Amino acid sequence: MAEYFDISGDKPTGTDLEFEKKLRPLCFSDFSGQNKVVNNLKVFVEAAKLRSEALDHVLLHGPPGLGKTTLAGIIANELGVSMKISSGPVLEKPGDLAGLLTNLEKGDVLFIDEIHRLAPIVEEYLYSAMEDYRIDILIDKGPSARSIQLKLNPFTLIGATTRSGLLTSPLRSRFSITCHLEYYDAEILHKIIKRSAKILNVPVSEEASVEISCRSRGTPRIANALLRRIRDFAQVKGDGKIDLKITKYSLEALNIDKHGLDEMDNKILLTIIDKFKGGPVGINTIATAIGEEDGTIEEVYEPFLIKEGYIKRTPRGREATEKSYEHLNKINTGKPGRLF
Ligand code: ADP
Repeated sequence: MAEYFDISGDKPTGTDLEFEKKLRPLCFSDFSGQNKVVNNLKVFVEAAKLRSEALDHVLLHGPPGLGKTTLAGIIANELGVSMKISSGPVLEKPGDLAGLLTNLEKGDVLFIDEIHRLAPIVEEYLYSAMEDYRIDILIDKGPSARSIQLKLNPFTLIGATTRSGLLTSPLRSRFSITCHLEYYDAEILHKIIKRSAKILNVPVSEEASVEISCRSRGTPRIANALLRRIRDFAQVKGDGKIDLKITKYSLEALNIDKHGLDEMDNKILLTIIDKFKGGPVGINTIATAIGEEDGTIEEVYEPFLIKEGYIKRTPRGREATEKSYEHLNKINTGKPGRLF
C-alpha cells in the first residue's frame, strides 16, 4: 500500500468524507462522463415520473470511486424523493432491513452499497420486498410468536457493487436496470478536476489539471483526492497555486509515476515479473507475496492494470505483458526471439 496515498477503495471517512460530500454532483447535468449510462437513466427516471411510479430497481457496478453512490443520489434527487443509505455488511439480520424498508415513503430510494456482501438470510428477505413490496415480520416472542405480512410502499432499490460476479443470480435477476460504470478518460477527469477546484476555490493551471487527470487511474475519487493532496503541497512548499511544477513535485512525493501507477501497482507488476517470471500466476499467490488481500487486488488494482494493458488474465493466471516489462525497464527473457 502506498505510504501516503491510499486508493484501496475503502470508503472515505472523517474529513475525506466531508470533502467528497462537498464535491458530489447533485444532478445529471453536473455528472460528467458515463454518457450512455446517464442518458439511459435519464429516460427511465423521466418515464417513472410521468407514470408516477417507483423507478424499477437499479444495479450499479464497477470499480470503486467511479460514481455509483453519486449516481444513486442523483437518481433520488431527479426523482424528487428521499434516499436511505445502507451497506451489505451492515445489514446483519432481516430485522435491520425491515426497519429500513418500513420507513420508506412511496417512490423513495433505498441505496445498498456493497450489495454483494449481504448475508444470505438478509438477501432472501429482500426478494419479496423487491418483487411484491411485501415482507414478513415476526411479532411477539415465544409460543405466541407469529409472522404477519406487511405491505410496503413501492420503492426503488439501488444496489452498488464492485464485484458483480459475486452476486447470486436470484438477486441479480431482480434488478431490471443494470448499469456498468467504466473508467473515465483523461478529458472527462480534466473537467471534473476543474469543477472540483472551482468548488474548493483553489487556483489550478490548465497544464496542472491535465497532468492530474492523466495520473488519476481513470477514477474521479482519485482525481479529487490528488487535487486535495497537491493543494497541501502548494500551500506548504509553494505559493498556494497549483501549477505544473508543484503538481509534478507532489506526485513524485506521493509515489505516483508518470503513467499514474502507484507503489502498489508497480509492486504487483514487479512481483509477477521478478518472482514468477512474468506469470501466469494466481491472484492468491500474488496477494500472499505482497501481503495484500486478494479481494483488494482483484477489485481495486487489477481492473485498471488490465484495462491499461499491463497484465492479462489467462485461464492459468495473471501474466505481465510486454508493456509492463517496458514500464519497469525489465527485459522479458521468456519472449520468443530474444537472445537474453
Ligand atoms: P463509488 O460509489 O463508485 O465508490 P462515489 O460516487 O462515492 O464512487 O464517487 C467518489 C467521488 O468522485 C465523489 O465525491 C464524487 O464527487 C466524485 N465523482 C464520481 N463520479 C463523478 C462524475 N462523473 N462527475 C463528477 N464527480 C464525480
